Amino acid sequence: MVRYVYDFTQGGRDMAGLLGGKGANLAEMTRLGLPVPPGFVITTEACRAFLATGGEPAGLWREVSGRLEALEAAAGRRLGQPDDPLLVSVRSGARFSMPGMMETILDIGLNDDSVLGLAKVSGSERFAWDSYRRLLQMFGSTVMGVDAALFEGELALLKDVRGIPDDVHLGAADLARLVEIYKDLIHDETGDWFPQCPAEQLRRAVLAVFASWNGQRARLYRRREHIPDGLGTAVTVQRMVFGNLGPDSGSGVAFTRDPATGRPGPYGDYLADAQGEDVVAGVRDTVPLTELERRDPGSYARLREHLRTLERHYRDLCDIEFTIERGTLWILQTRVGKRTAEAAFAIAAQLADERVITPDEGLARVSGEELARLMFPRFDTSATGDALARGVPASPGAAVGAAVFDSAEAVRRAAAGEKVVLVRQETTPDDLPGMIAAQAVLTSRGGKTSHAAVVARGMGKVCVCGAEELSVDVRARHFTAPDGTVVGEGTVLSVDGSAGAVYPGSVPLVDSAVMRFLEGGDTDEKAAGVVEAVARALARADTVRRLEVRANADTPEDAARARRFGAQGIGLCRTEHMFLGERRQLVEDMILARSDTERDRALAALLPLQRRDFTGILQAMDGLPVTIRLLDPPLHEFLPDRTELAVRIATARARGDLPDPHDAELLAAVNRMHEENPMLGLRGVRLGLLVPGLVAMQVRAIGEAVVERTRAGGTPRAEIMVPLVGDVRELRIVRDEVERVLAEVSEESGVLVTCPVGTMIELPRAALTAGRIAEEAQFFSFGTNDLTQTTWGFSRDDVEAEFFSAYLDRGVFPASPFETLDIDGVGRLVRIAVAEGRAARPDLTIGVCGEHGGDPGSVHFFHTAGLDYVSCSPFRVPVARLEAGRAAL
Ligand code: ADP
Ligand code: MG
Ligand code: MG
Repeated sequence: MVRYVYDFTQGGRDMAGLLGGKGANLAEMTRLGLPVPPGFVITTEACRAFLATGGEPAGLWREVSGRLEALEAAAGRRLGQPDDPLLVSVRSGARFSMPGMMETILDIGLNDDSVLGLAKVSGSERFAWDSYRRLLQMFGSTVMGVDAALFEGELALLKDVRGIPDDVHLGAADLARLVEIYKDLIHDETGDWFPQCPAEQLRRAVLAVFASWNGQRARLYRRREHIPDGLGTAVTVQRMVFGNLGPDSGSGVAFTRDPATGRPGPYGDYLADAQGEDVVAGVRDTVPLTELERRDPGSYARLREHLRTLERHYRDLCDIEFTIERGTLWILQTRVGKRTAEAAFAIAAQLADERVITPDEGLARVSGEELARLMFPRFDTSATGDALARGVPASPGAAVGAAVFDSAEAVRRAAAGEKVVLVRQETTPDDLPGMIAAQAVLTSRGGKTSHAAVVARGMGKVCVCGAEELSVDVRARHFTAPDGTVVGEGTVLSVDGSAGAVYPGSVPLVDSAVMRFLEGGDTDEKAAGVVEAVARALARADTVRRLEVRANADTPEDAARARRFGAQGIGLCRTEHMFLGERRQLVEDMILARSDTERDRALAALLPLQRRDFTGILQAMDGLPVTIRLLDPPLHEFLPDRTELAVRIATARARGDLPDPHDAELLAAVNRMHEENPMLGLRGVRLGLLVPGLVAMQVRAIGEAVVERTRAGGTPRAEIMVPLVGDVRELRIVRDEVERVLAEVSEESGVLVTCPVGTMIELPRAALTAGRIAEEAQFFSFGTNDLTQTTWGFSRDDVEAEFFSAYLDRGVFPASPFETLDIDGVGRLVRIAVAEGRAARPDLTIGVCGEHGGDPGSVHFFHTAGLDYVSCSPFRVPVARLEAGRAAL
């Protein structure tokens, strides 16, 4: 018999899979002796069973009733008991935190009778009717499907009629009237009455929370955060405590450290006389915790103590939701809190200093993605001018975009390629699509714990919230700054999420402090903390990692930068860029040559240019390996466009002129070389076999560059890499030629030049015959871009626009296989090639040089697959170093 229900006293934090994060942590806090209102958790397994069948799992209700009876016995009153009702909340909570994405219903157990009992025992009629109308509103919309806006509309109408400006001024009689209006509204909209039976309320609320797992915004959030759709949510049923019982009550959110900077000490927002929902919703302005300390020092001291207990216990930044009911403090939720990239590094370093965690744990707590975020440019503060407004720096970074005032407009403009800033008074979960589409989020209300701030931080999106000087008019689609400036939809803004400022127009960017440090520059004092924390994490990663990190670079400048970023060589030096620009003519001559002499002349002209390229790169990477790939792309890429030529010739003819004979010749050549699928055509090693003299010229340029560098006293370590090999015989032919040319160069120069010769593994056939290929290859480098294309059989240039988004939407793959390696398919080929290559040649060096070399998830795979190095773009080198270290933990 499966068990579906656990009391808080029966669970713990290691049960998050079953009880959801919220339920598991409530149980953990109960065990720690913190003041948590009692309750129980219905498992995610029950939710999965419900979602699979659409019906209530057998036996669930019997178990829930049993637990409820125990809860009632302990409280000494029954759910909805008319003279003194026990009330409960029914809360969603999945394994991974999805803040505000699913439903929670408070005050279950109120009805026409118990509302009177509650009024009597609490001594506040206003409170009782306010709670009842909240229940009708939440239950009506969440369980019974009435449009939430209709409730808001009725509330607004009542306030209008009574001439009341603010919710807090509604009296008991107004709220009792509102209850009647809401009941009728529910009946008019659904044909059913709000259920008066408390048990029925509970039962329907639980099922509605199950169903909210598949609500639209929950699904969107999961896709964005890569949370699997099959997990389901747990449901927590918990005794209500009340923050809306007057001025000595209230609700708040607190962190053990500042989630934006990592600074230690309690941090948070508090709202007197309010239920928890009001704090996050930003309906009224919160006050900082210091204000709570002034008003209720006893509760504040206890809060601090509990925060300390939690941080010691979880050994990490925690955030909590709390409520004070007439001077009694209750903790309603905790979790290891989301934080900015800066805070992540700072906290990891601090906790390691405090010996709360080990240096390795500190490394595990930061990520390559966070490091990448810290490397993004910042605004040039000398060029900003006056800010339009200032607010809370809720999520750091610099973003520029056009102001938009609702989610739909943000999505529409972003889809058309425009960068936008979403401006709202405050955000709600319904704004999620717009927040995803926007570069930055700007709100006029709410603090660092508001919905906008929490969600933006989670997404690594720039956010300034609580810019109270702005008056935002969403209907009129503009906001007004304190200086009178009116900013309408489409006006470009610059949002500085690190400083909490908004500027008109597009402010220029400068390197971030972390970037300057990585590049070897000075750090300004203000950023010293985070820079030091980053330096420590990288140093730790470098000591523990097994994977080496190289860079993909084709110029001396890129090579030098990569080296400053810590690259241990070049894993991919493409030579095709060296064939462009003014050299294009020479390439054209080489391709179009009508005789060997003509071709040799073109190649001879290219040789010194190539040699100079290689000399510069070998110098910048002196002493470290430089893997040079022989020419790879289809030759026609170096020739003019076919249609353009044809049009030019036709236009000349139409004018009655004779077309330029050179054009005619070119067109004939382009036609001759035209391919339907150039990426599967004459390219890579095939070029080397078909274009006489090409390999020899490139190898000679490499060999002579090595000679030049050796004579200059350097230690050049060139490696020659052959692209697109599918069969060992292709490689053997090229290798023989490489060796012949290098012997010639050695002979002529008197300097012995030897370069390892290896191949890219980027065709499935190469991977599957890797044992044979390794007989001729001294190294392998996985070209995972082409290997992904050729394994899936789709062309990267053609798919990303169209069917990829459909594939992502429909869950065919969780992320683009061009971003994160497809471990099941492409990864399997990698493993086969590694095993068979090493079996044939135990000292085979193996690396990867596709984009995946800088992708965190893929780096972990390459570590486990036993590669020797990853190679990525220079800017990703620090990220790869960090992730290679984390992979080795
Ligand atoms: P979310 O996951 O969206 O944060 P929660 O389940 O945490 O949803 O609940 C929403 C709000 O209701 C929170 O602010 C919480 O503090 C409040 N709340 C939930 N349960 C109770 C309770 N038993 N007593 C008082 N407030 C509650
Ligand atoms: Mg919550
Ligand atoms: Mg390739």
